[in-house]
Amino acid sequence: MNTISSPHLAAEACEARFKKARTALLLDHPFFGTLLFRLAAKPQSSIKTMATDGVSLYYNPEFVNTLTAAELQGTLAHEVMHPALQHHARRNDRDARRWNMACDYAINPMLINAGLTLPKDVLVDGRFAGMSAEEIYNRLDPENEGCPDDESQQNTSADAKSGDSAKRNEGGEGASDDPTAPESPGGIGQVLDAPEEVVPHLSTSKLGNGKLPCNRPKTLRGSRARCQ
Ligand SMILES: [Zn+2]
Repeated sequence: MNTISSPHLAAEACEARFKKARTALLLDHPFFGTLLFRLAAKPQSSIKTMATDGVSLYYNPEFVNTLTAAELQGTLAHEVMHPALQHHARRNDRDARRWNMACDYAINPMLINAGLTLPKDVLVDGRFAGMSAEEIYNRLDPENEGCPDDESQQNTSADAKSGDSAKRNEGGEGASDDPTAPESPGGIGQVLDAPEEVVPHLSTSKLGNGKLPCNRPKTLRGSRARCQ
């Protein structure tokens, strides 16, 4: 009997934990909690941890169940900071894995300083204190911290849309367009590129409050964002 009901019950328990953490984050850290409610939460087993494209927040129930309540709160706060800092719209042609690492190095100290708890072994390095993701990216070693030939480089949301990655669904539900994200040791809550349909919208509204690299793509031209 348990073989039938357990997966369903596990999913329900995960969803309950997720909602509880989301509410707790709203009460304990309203800045992060308010931002979190702008993202549509979706369970997604093709994502190893969590990931966001600025519209959806994908989470792997198995990963969620490995976290303590405090770590789950911290991971959710981590996730909302990617779109808050426009990481999903700033990657351009950069290596996806290395970009994710740079973004995590930029975000995690802010969360720790805010009193949040993150999972063990997340990416924190004093060398990068106060730097933007672009600055950190340029200081990361391309040989060891970005792998252009690695399959993880192919597992970006853009590639998922193109439909030519044979390996992207190894842990997923089987749909050919399941989102996946590059993986790296210590990486949590990956950032995916913004969906194409929302980039023009971002250019006229949300990007006005963010910092962007000077070489931002044409679709972002005309925004009031400041160059770094
Ligand atoms: Zn992240």
